[in-house]
Amino acid sequence: MGSLAIGISGWANIAANGMSYFNQNRMVVTYVVHARTYKGEYNMLEGKVALVTGASRGIGRAIAIALAKKGATVIVNYGGSAQAAKETVEEIESLGGKAQELQCDVADYEACGEMIKTVLEKYGRLDILVNNAGITRDGLILRMSEADYDAVMSVNLKGAFNTIRHASKAFLKQRSGKIINISSVSALLGNPGQANYAASKAGLIGLTRSVARELASRGICVNAIAPGLIASDMTEQMPEKAKEELLGRIPLGRIGRPEDVASVAAFLADPASDYVTGQVLCVDGGMAI
Ligand code: NAP
Repeated sequence: MGSLAIGISGWANIAANGMSYFNQNRMVVTYVVHARTYKGEYNMLEGKVALVTGASRGIGRAIAIALAKKGATVIVNYGGSAQAAKETVEEIESLGGKAQELQCDVADYEACGEMIKTVLEKYGRLDILVNNAGITRDGLILRMSEADYDAVMSVNLKGAFNTIRHASKAFLKQRSGKIINISSVSALLGNPGQANYAASKAGLIGLTRSVARELASRGICVNAIAPGLIASDMTEQMPEKAKEELLGRIPLGRIGRPEDVASVAAFLADPASDYVTGQVLCVDGGMAI
C-alpha cells in the first residue's frame, strides 16, 4: 500500500516536471521517485515562521520539532520553564533546524502583543500560530474555587484569543496563515473534575470556528486539534486509576504520544491542508467516536 502511494505521487511528480523515465530500468525509476517525493515533503515549510505557545515541554515541544523538521523557523514560547525551552531549541538545532525561545505568559494580553511584535520585527513575517499552552486545575464543581476556574480560562482560552488578536493583522496583510488551536476531547465529551478545563477547551472550538469564518476570505485557515489521553507532564499528575479507566475507553488501546498530535499539527500547518478550515480533528485513538 505504501509503495503504491509513493508510486502514484512519484508519477505525478514526473508528469508535473515533464521528465521521462519510461525507458529506464524500473529500479532506477523507483529510486528517483522516492528521492523527489521525500525531498518535497521535508521542505514544505521552508521559509515559513511558526510560533508555538507552550513549546518548552510535552505536546508543544513535539509540535515545534515537527514543524522545524519540515523547514519552518520555530519560535518556542514558554511560560516559566526556561531551561526546558532552551532544550527544545537545542534539539531542533541539533537536527539542523532553526529556532529560538521566547518567554511570554499567554494569559497576559499586552505581553502577547509584545511577543508577536518581537517575532514580526525579527523575522518580518508569521505564517503559523499554534496555540498549545495549557494548564489544568482539576476539582469537582462543588469544590472548584473561582481562582482555579479563572486561571484555566485565562491561559487555555483567553491565551489563544490574545495571540490570535495580535497576529491576525500580519496574517491578513500576508493573505495567508495557519492557526492551530489545541483543544481536547474533554470539550466534546466532558470530564468529571474538569468543568473549568472542558469549558475552556470547548470555548476554543467556538473561537476556532468563528475566526475561521472571519479570516477564510483571505486564505487563512483556522483549525483545532482535540487530543485524547497523551503522555506528558500534564497527564503524569493524574491518578493511576483514572488513567486506567480512560485507557479502557480508547479503541486503539494505547495512550497517545506527543508525536501523534504533532504530526497532525504539521499537516494542518502545511499547504497539504489548504482546503481545510474550521475543523476539529480528534487525535484520541478513537475515544470520541
Ligand atoms: P504540559 O506537558 O503540562 O505542557 C504545557 C505547556 O504549556 C508547557 O510548555 C508550559 O510552559 C506551557 N504553559 C503553561 N502555562 C503557560 C502560560 N501561561 N504561558 C505560556 N506557556 C504556558 O501539557 P501537554 O500535555 O503537553 O499539553 C499541551 C496542550 O495540549 C495543552 O493545551 C493541553 O490542554 C492540551 N491537551 C493535552 C492532553 C494530554 O493528554 N496531555 C489532552 C488534550 C489536550 P512552561 O512550563 O514554560 O510554563
